[in-house]
Amino acid sequence: MAEAKMVHSPTLTYFSMLSLLTLCPPFVILLWYTMVHADGSVLQTWDYFRQQGLQGFLEMWPKPTAVAWKIIACYGVFEAALQLWLPGRRVEGPISPAGNRPVYKANGLAAYAVTLITYLSLWWFGIFNPIIVYDHLGEIFSALIFGSFIFCILLYIKGHVAPSSTDCGSSGNMIIDFYWGMELYPRIGKNFDIKVFTNCRFGMMSWSVLALTYCIKQYEANGRVADSMLVNTALMLVYVTKFFWWEAGYWNTMDIAHDRAGFYICWGCLVWVPSIYTSPGMYLVNHPVDLGTQLALYILAAGILCIYINYDCDRQRQEFRRTNGKGLVWGKAPSKIVATYTTTSGETKSSLLLTSGWWGLSRHFHYVPEILAAFFWTVPALFNHVLPYFYVVFLTILLFDRAKRDDDRCRSKYGKYWKLYCEKVPYRIVPGVY
Ligand code: NDP
Repeated sequence: MAEAKMVHSPTLTYFSMLSLLTLCPPFVILLWYTMVHADGSVLQTWDYFRQQGLQGFLEMWPKPTAVAWKIIACYGVFEAALQLWLPGRRVEGPISPAGNRPVYKANGLAAYAVTLITYLSLWWFGIFNPIIVYDHLGEIFSALIFGSFIFCILLYIKGHVAPSSTDCGSSGNMIIDFYWGMELYPRIGKNFDIKVFTNCRFGMMSWSVLALTYCIKQYEANGRVADSMLVNTALMLVYVTKFFWWEAGYWNTMDIAHDRAGFYICWGCLVWVPSIYTSPGMYLVNHPVDLGTQLALYILAAGILCIYINYDCDRQRQEFRRTNGKGLVWGKAPSKIVATYTTTSGETKSSLLLTSGWWGLSRHFHYVPEILAAFFWTVPALFNHVLPYFYVVFLTILLFDRAKRDDDRCRSKYGKYWKLYCEKVPYRIVPGVY
C-alpha cells in the first residue's frame, strides 16, 4: 500500500505529508480571519502579524465554544440520521482491490433536499437564524479542526483493531497509515458507511449549507443580496446539486474506490471542504460587488456550462462502463480498450477503457471544466484581492497531482493496456498542451 501511494520520491512524499498535517489547520484559521476580519486582504493580515507576532496568531485562533460544538453535533447527527433512515435504491460499488463489492443506499439527493428545506424553513419561521453560524464560523472551524483530528485517530485505531472488510492494510509506517488511512470502506455496523458520511453528507452538504448561510448573512446585514453573491451562491448550489444527483456515480471515483479513509480524505472533507471550498462566498459577504445584470448572467451561464460538461464527462464514463461499452458515445459506437488486470487476491478481471468522447480528448479532460467552474463562481469577487482565488489555485494543483497519481495507479493496474491508452490519448489533462 505504501508503495502504491508513493508516486513521488519518498522524501517528497514525507515532506508533503508532514507539511499538510501541520500547515493545513493554521491555514484554515488564517483564511477565515483574513476573509471575515481583515477585509479579505493578505497584506492586512500580514501587518497584524508584524505587529503582534506569534502571540497575535494564538489570540486570533478562536477557541471551540459550546455553541460551535452544538451546531456541529446537531448538523452531524441530522445528516447521519438522514443517511441511515431515508429510503433509497440499493447500489453496488465497484469491485475493490481485495475483490469485495460494497453496497450502498442511494438516498443522497433526498438528504440534500431535506437538509436545504429544513435549513431554510428554520430561518423562515424564525426558529434558527443562519447568521448564528456565520457569527461563530471561526469557533466552528476551530472545533472541526480538533474534532476531525480525533476522528482520524479513531479511524486509525479502528483500522488496526476492528476493520470492516479485507480492504484494509498497514504500510508498517504510523504516519503513512494515519495520513492515507488503513481501511477502504470503514463502516459502523453493516450499513453506516463512514466515507459516505464524511465526504458526501458532512463535507459536500456543508458546502451548500454554508453557501446559503453567506447569502443570508449578506441579506440580513444589507437588506439585499448583491448580484455577485447571487451568482456565486447559485453556481455553488448547481455544483452541489449535480454532486448529489450523481452521488452513486461518485462512489465509483478515486475518493471512494481508491483512497483509504485517513487524514487526507476524511479530515479534508470534514474541515477543508467547509472552510476552503466555500471561501469565495465567505469573502463576498462583506464585499457586495455589483456586476450588472448582463455580466452576472454571462458568468452564470459560463459556470453552468462548465458544471454540465464536467457532469457529462463523469456520466459518459459511467454509462460506458454500465452498458459494457454498448451505448453510443457522442452518437457513435465508442472506441475502447479491453484491459485485463489481477486483483490482490490473484483473480484475473477485465475493465473497459473508453478512448473516444470526452475521454478521447485527454485522459483527465473532466478536470478542465471542474477548474473553470470554480473560476466562474469566484470571478464575481472581481480582482481587488487575490485570496478569493485561493480555492481555484489549490484545486488546479490538487487535480494536476491527482491526474498524475491516477495515471501511475492505472499504469501499475493495467500495464501494457494503459500504455496503449496513453498512445491513443497522449495528453493527460489539457488537449494539445499537457
Ligand atoms: P475519475 O472518476 O475520473 O476516476 C478515475 C478512474 O476512472 C481511474 O482510476 C480508472 O479507474 C477509471 N478510468 C480512467 N480512464 C478511464 C477511461 N478512459 N475509461 C473508463 N474508465 C477510466 O476521477 P476522479 O475521482 O478524480 O473525478 C471524479 C469527479 O470528481 C470529477 O468530476 C472531478 O472533477 C471531481 N473531483 C473534484 C474534486 C474537488 O475537490 N472539487 C477533487 C477530485 C475530483 P478503474 O480502476 O475503475 O479503471
